[in-house]
Amino acid sequence: MFEELETVKKKCLGCQKCNLCQNRTNVVFSDGIPNNKLMLVGEAPGYWEDIKGKPFVGKAGQLLDKIFECVGLSREKDVYICNTIKCRPPENRNPLPEEKLACREYLDKQIEILKPKIIIICGNIALNSLLPEERGITRARGKWFDGPFGSKMIPIFHPSYLLRNDSREKGSPKWLTWQDIKEIRRVYDTL
Ligand code: SF4
Repeated sequence: MFEELETVKKKCLGCQKCNLCQNRTNVVFSDGIPNNKLMLVGEAPGYWEDIKGKPFVGKAGQLLDKIFECVGLSREKDVYICNTIKCRPPENRNPLPEEKLACREYLDKQIEILKPKIIIICGNIALNSLLPEERGITRARGKWFDGPFGSKMIPIFHPSYLLRNDSREKGSPKWLTWQDIKEIRRVYDTL
């Protein structure tokens, strides 16, 4: 498993398949622990991810770590983390369709090699890539969908969205994410 992933990573680190290679500092391939239970797929690297070469660093990454910690999970021990797009789009704009298409082979390979039982789809861009028929994260979050290789996929809000919506009241994005992560933990415990 690890050797196959390393081969894909090596190819990805030298990738020039789309224009996003021109301004990147680092290719952001993955973080966390390769495993066959839990994968989180985000959208595309931002400023700090590009600098550090890791997905979900900075404030959004710290919040994601806290969300996992709340249910006793951690990226060091339990979760493999990657993005749909591996290089940072300029000014954090949404990735273009041709960029998504070019980069898709790397995400597909990560899923094919690890065959995670649960795939957390984090945010609208990842939702659009993995469940294009769904109409937005607000409607899709918290629901289970059939995914590739027998996996179950569940969309959640992106932590950067939660940072912009601070309320913890019942029904707020943070409150809903708390319900979602508890549900993920519940199913994780049945694996
Ligand atoms: S975004 Fe993906 S396809 Fe484009 S250059 Fe980077 S790794 Fe290659």
